Amino acid sequence: MNVLVVGGAGYIGSHCIRQLVAAGHRPVVLDNLVYGHRAAVAADIPFYEGNLGDPATVGRILQHEKIELVMHFAAFCYVGESVTAPMKYYENNLVATLRLLATMQLHGVSKFVFSSTCATFGVPDRLPMTEDLPQRPINPYGQTKLDVENVLKALATAHGLSFAVFRYFNAAGAAEDGTIGEDHDPETHLIPLAIDAALGRRPPLQIFGTDYPTPDGTCQRDYVHVDDLSRAHIAIFDRLATPGAQFFYNLGTGRPFSVREIIGAVERITGHKVPVIEAPRRAGDPPALYADSAKARRDLGWSPKFGDAESIIATAWKWHQTHPRGFAS
Ligand code: UDP
Repeated sequence: MNVLVVGGAGYIGSHCIRQLVAAGHRPVVLDNLVYGHRAAVAADIPFYEGNLGDPATVGRILQHEKIELVMHFAAFCYVGESVTAPMKYYENNLVATLRLLATMQLHGVSKFVFSSTCATFGVPDRLPMTEDLPQRPINPYGQTKLDVENVLKALATAHGLSFAVFRYFNAAGAAEDGTIGEDHDPETHLIPLAIDAALGRRPPLQIFGTDYPTPDGTCQRDYVHVDDLSRAHIAIFDRLATPGAQFFYNLGTGRPFSVREIIGAVERITGHKVPVIEAPRRAGDPPALYADSAKARRDLGWSPKFGDAESIIATAWKWHQTHPRGFAS
């Protein structure tokens, strides 16, 4: 299929492009390069620099490239920033996405794969988290993703849009060959910060909260490899052939790791001590989030190849060693 990958120069999009190529599809990238990296996408992949909310640009690409399916990875994803700058999140994650969907409708493109998040659930009623739990986001980031989910449902009913929503838990790791990986500016994620702290490239890692109701007092998360996430996106394609079909999947390994456990794993993989400072809780952090991905396993035959934190961190470590300054290296 001809697939438009919106946000293809970003962390998850760039990994997904490689899987699309490997599976025999033809990806085309649209990215505004605000957070993405041109170097994350191979030179032979058609690449358009532009905004997803610009109907003229998107319309031209859809027509010219004969796009059959759109994958949408382009979003602002800093929970804390979404609280202090909500308009930025509503504009980009919601309003621009609505424009993208309207442009698709205008041009008769009716298959859509959307990157959503476990943050749509807020503080979950139950663990591990199944798809049917109530969604009550506790920050604007999660809210904008949930808003799009609801728009997609309405479009499926009204206009036959067929779509899949993948709710990621904590995306982590890097391509196994070490050529692409995570390069955020600013970096706020635990694993890259812990690796950098271990190497003395950043100040000691702050542990945000040590008084949570978890076994060691620090937050538990479900770290899932970026290539495993990507594989699920491609496994859904056949099911989108039916007009109006809609699918929701929680994607994680199902294994919780605490902040302290991740620090221990980073120390074992890198062979360096991670200097830490115990800090207050970070606003908006639920104590524990981990997935029940039985539905994805059942429907898509999906199972994460990287089942534990150490194997995921090993890929991130390889990327950090070969790219100490990220893509600028
Ligand atoms: N975390 C931390 N120190 C940091 C960054 C993150 O203790 O410098 C914790 C954070 O509170 C959360 C977990 O690590 O419990 C994962 O955070 P991250 O920002 O990587 O992903 P998120 O869960 O926010 O998507």
